[in-house]
Amino acid sequence: MNQHSIKKIVIVGGGTAGWMTAAALAKKFLPINMDIVLVESEAIGTVGVGESTIPHIRGFNEYLGIDESFFIAETKATFKLGIAFKHWGQLGNDYIHPFGPLGHDINGVEFHHYWLRMQQEGSKYPLDNYSMAAMAARAGKFQHPSTDSMSLLSNYNYAFHFDAALYAKYLRRYAEAINVKRIEGIVAATNLNSDNGFIESIRLDSGITLGGDLFIDCTGFKGILIDKVLNAKFEDWSHWLRCDKAIAVPCALSEEKLTPYTQATAQQAGWQWRIPLQHRTGNGHVYASDYLSDDEAAAILLKNLDGEPLAEPKFFTFKAGQRKQNWEKNCVAIGLSGGFLEPLESTSIYLIQVGIQKLLDFFPDKNFAKANSAEFNRQLDEEYVRIRDFIIMHYKENAREDSPFWMDCKNMSVPDALAQRQKLFKSTGYVDHQQYGVYAAVCIGQGLIPDVYDFKINAFSHHKIAAYLEKIHGNINAAVASMPFAQDYINRILANTNQGKPL
Ligand SMILES: Cc1cc2nc3c(=O)[nH]c(=O)nc-3n(C[C@H](O)[C@H](O)[C@H](O)COP(=O)(O)OP(=O)(O)OC[C@H]3O[C@@H](n4cnc5c(N)ncnc54)[C@H](O)[C@@H]3O)c2cc1C
Repeated sequence: MNQHSIKKIVIVGGGTAGWMTAAALAKKFLPINMDIVLVESEAIGTVGVGESTIPHIRGFNEYLGIDESFFIAETKATFKLGIAFKHWGQLGNDYIHPFGPLGHDINGVEFHHYWLRMQQEGSKYPLDNYSMAAMAARAGKFQHPSTDSMSLLSNYNYAFHFDAALYAKYLRRYAEAINVKRIEGIVAATNLNSDNGFIESIRLDSGITLGGDLFIDCTGFKGILIDKVLNAKFEDWSHWLRCDKAIAVPCALSEEKLTPYTQATAQQAGWQWRIPLQHRTGNGHVYASDYLSDDEAAAILLKNLDGEPLAEPKFFTFKAGQRKQNWEKNCVAIGLSGGFLEPLESTSIYLIQVGIQKLLDFFPDKNFAKANSAEFNRQLDEEYVRIRDFIIMHYKENAREDSPFWMDCKNMSVPDALAQRQKLFKSTGYVDHQQYGVYAAVCIGQGLIPDVYDFKINAFSHHKIAAYLEKIHGNINAAVASMPFAQDYINRILANTNQGKPL
């Protein structure tokens, strides 16, 4: 440590963002004697949702050294192989965004071109048929991917559904065990340096004053430091992402076996999620209040539960967008205080992870070099925009004519880069490699079918490609048949987990 090293970090907020940040920073820095304090208020509480993740969460848990079986037991987690989109693109549509590849690329040409050619030549098989993750998800099957890269059973990825409150509690225990200090209280005032406007200390309602070198704002939508004190500008994206409200309600598990995927069902002015956990199912309806009243939205949600509601519905109001500067002076916003993109692709917790990772990459000293925070902001912005455009695409690419909401989404103008990417995909089937591996699956699932396939595959006969696709599908079917049901697999893990094992 040199004289300019950061010695005290104050994290304000103890939701998923606060405790993920505390755990990750403590893991990295506490061996070198840094003070990390987290302030949270039980009276204010947390947003209490955020239960569906993408595979990157596993990397975060691994970084912390958390045993997966123990995590599953503690957070009532289940496995997730993708997201099933129903009625998106068109009423009656049903496709999966799978965690894992589609078929295999041959001779450098992506699989979807082979599928496309077969469609043009009369085949009717959905793209899902060629994805291990999608087929296993539909069959309700799960096992850990094989470590043998030659096996089809290695050809998928997975994430978790978990209880958000239990995850935050779990991380709190983890962080406190490695010396993060938690203080209960409400931030009542902030003291700024009169020369540079940096935060010097916060004062709690109890009268305690906490000084620090670096402040992390994890106060959720309130953004009490980054917004209320430092006035970091918020960029509003709600003209593209029109849903601005949500209702969430847990319900009892249905009789059915566990489904290892998140269900996202499009409704008349938004969509409904279904997230199965071990002990309950999380449900929510994300909707646009310009098109649907709260009462109508609640009625749709409650009508479509597959078990008894277990609590009163909880309402949320939000605005899609992000702060231009998630890092402003000596304050970094992580979590909802920095921005929000609706949960359609389960990316908020992932964005928390990205924020933490980039903070570690660009960890400052007390000089707070401007170029350092500028690069952090640039990289985080890039990630937000990439996800924003991916989500907008789900709304834009639709052929629904049954409701004003969907027709307005279809007719809206979208960011230029997205418009260009979509035109390129439609006219050539080309997927920009900066995009997600599953981009083609989601575009095609939404109904955006390329006009042409890559002419290079004309070297193969129809018969040869048809036989090849049939073989892939047959092999996937056989592999899925050999897998256990996700429910049985979880039960086995829980039975084998020593729940008394220390962290
Ligand atoms: C409807 C909905 C569904 C979602 N679904 C998903 C999903 O499926 N997957 C996903 O990845 N994400 C999802 N998210 C996002 C996810 O919930 C959040 O990213 C995550 O919970 C992190 O929230 P947070 O910690 O930033 O904020 P919060 O949970 O709101 O925590 C804020 C903390 O700050 C504290 N605080 C606030 N003000 C003060 C003050 N003055 N003094 C002291 N403490 C204070 C509070 O007490 C609390 O501890 C969803 C969000 C919404 C709204």
